[in-house]
Amino acid sequence: MQSIGNGVVNKIYVSFEKPFWGNRKGYINFVTKSQLNRYPVGFVMSEKNRHILCIFVSASHSVELSKWSDKDVKEDLQRFLRKFTFSKEETTIRDFRMTRWHQEENSLGSYSFVKVGHDQEEASAVLRKPLGGKVWLVGEHMHPTANACAHAAFETGVWAAE
Ligand SMILES: Cc1cc2nc3c(=O)[nH]c(=O)nc-3n(C[C@H](O)[C@H](O)[C@H](O)COP(=O)(O)OP(=O)(O)OC[C@H]3O[C@@H](n4cnc5c(N)ncnc54)[C@H](O)[C@@H]3O)c2cc1C
Repeated sequence: MQSIGNGVVNKIYVSFEKPFWGNRKGYINFVTKSQLNRYPVGFVMSEKNRHILCIFVSASHSVELSKWSDKDVKEDLQRFLRKFTFSKEETTIRDFRMTRWHQEENSLGSYSFVKVGHDQEEASAVLRKPLGGKVWLVGEHMHPTANACAHAAFETGVWAAE
């Protein structure tokens, strides 16, 4: 277990009156001169929810923003968007939701990773051994190659069942 670390990615969902990104699909990279960019990328939702952006926040920014209130993050994000060419009207956030995964007692983070200096295949092989020959633990952290992925969780479940 000591070879496994725990990382955090949070998502902020924000809706606007109208999508200021027009008909663009996929995602928007917010490029700034400063490396301190808390909101580097926003994913555009599908047709039905085209007025919603899903902004990814990762690493230390994620932990830092989790300590702020929703109101403070919302205001900060709004100020950030207004640094670009979008108008005040276009960037007025209507609804706001943010995850705080490392504060959720049943998650304590978003994903696992194998620490530098440790071997993922070796570490996970130990974890996949059944406890007392009877209990099989499963989950993304037990996969030999694909930590942090949904398909890793699925595959370890299939292997344990087999
Ligand atoms: C923001 C974010 C974005 C992600 N994006 C992607 C992506 O794009 N692609 C991708 O492949 N993967 C992504 N992942 C990762 C993917 O969601 C996980 O790898 C996957 O859900 C792990 O599944 P799991 O079954 O191992 O663990 P979990 O889904 O965490 O399941 C563990 C369950 O155990 C429960 N639990 C914990 N403690 C207890 C207890 N004491 N008693 C009872 N129940 C308990 C928890 O509530 C939870 O339901 C993302 C994760 C996050 C957080």
